[in-house]
Amino acid sequence: MKHLTEEDLILLYYGEPGVPYQYRMHLAECRECRSAAESLAATLEVCNEWTVPEPGAEFERRVWARVGPQISVRREARWFPVWAAAAVMAALIVIAFIAGELRAIRSLLFLQRVFPIRRAGAYSKSPWPTIWIAPPCC
Ligand SMILES: [Zn+2]
Repeated sequence: MKHLTEEDLILLYYGEPGVPYQYRMHLAECRECRSAAESLAATLEVCNEWTVPEPGAEFERRVWARVGPQISVRREARWFPVWAAAAVMAALIVIAFIAGELRAIRSLLFLQRVFPIRRAGAYSKSPWPTIWIAPPCC
């Protein structure tokens, strides 16, 4: 087996799950890897002794003062405003409605051409002609 990588040694140091059993066996048998693991452990122990410094009371205010203007610039830099998107959606709805109506009219005109049509305007008092579409059997 090849020697363990530094990444493997770190996983072993922290006891991460999923590390193959062969890694532990190799570490127990290989003096070179064990030496590297002890050196790495000594380095990581030093890192564990360091404490994270507490941010000052003004830290949050200073960060927001620096970051805040950039956030508002991003909002203004939107290339497609919300009102335009709403207008486009409204236009698409109107176009879809008109397209549906035109299709219905085309269907009606097709039916008028295929099937015989009787106009009953002469019999009706309504100023609008009444159109009956007779089925092909009549
Ligand atoms: Zn080794």
